[in-house]
Amino acid sequence: MFEKLDERIIINTQVVVISSLHIGISTTTAPQEIDKAVIKAPDGTPFIPGSSLKGVLRCDNDRLLNSLSDMLKNNDLKVCDLETSSQPCGKCLSCLLFGGTQASSIRVKDFLAQSSKTVIRDGVAISRKTRKAITKAKYEIEVVPKGTIFDGEIMIENPKINNHKYAKLGALLSMVNFFNNTNRSLGGGTSRGFGEVLLIVNNVRSFTANDYLESTGGKIILEFNNKKESDRSMTWKFECKEQEKLDLILKEWQTTLKKFRKVSENESH
Ligand SMILES: [Zn+2]
Repeated sequence: MFEKLDERIIINTQVVVISSLHIGISTTTAPQEIDKAVIKAPDGTPFIPGSSLKGVLRCDNDRLLNSLSDMLKNNDLKVCDLETSSQPCGKCLSCLLFGGTQASSIRVKDFLAQSSKTVIRDGVAISRKTRKAITKAKYEIEVVPKGTIFDGEIMIENPKINNHKYAKLGALLSMVNFFNNTNRSLGGGTSRGFGEVLLIVNNVRSFTANDYLESTGGKIILEFNNKKESDRSMTWKFECKEQEKLDLILKEWQTTLKKFRKVSENESH
């Protein structure tokens, strides 16, 4: 069904590599010079596929929602299990945020590296059975070095849930904060210490039909207090210039969580 566009939210985000990042090419039909190359744009610039980042966020979020469901004794917060079911249910909060049967609400663009520099590391294949190195099974692995910054955008179509204007934005920002404080990992070789990253949100812009009519660039609704790029390596503070507005947006999401009942039940009342 065609859904009217009330508002589109664009979250200007960066991924900062804290330890070497390896996001490989999944289809390895073409012979490669390096056994394990990182995925690159046609001009040689490494990028993080939006689907990878979105997948990590969805997975984290699903685990959180299932835990909250037990904690708040609200079964409607339970999300559908994409690993065991072939079809997303389209009704749970996870489907509402990340897309199920309808077009996805949260969309993540590919994140492009500011520099095309990569580093080759030696790797040793480890036997799954013995946990020992397999002799002569050495390979080379290409990684994006520490300190590399990737630029990208996360988009939210119609951020509203029920009467909460920015509930989905609150959800996304909470997810980013949770990710930065806990998981922080992306890509392959995380057991070897690869793939520690930090998500930095710079600002959040809003576009409405009126912005389209007036040809404006939308308006900035949140601007985060980020440090200079050089000393951004370890922390991201969940603070912005419009702190009250941010708190309100986060609160909208928290309220949604406490009161969420599946769409089908809402409609039948
Ligand atoms: Zn679902």
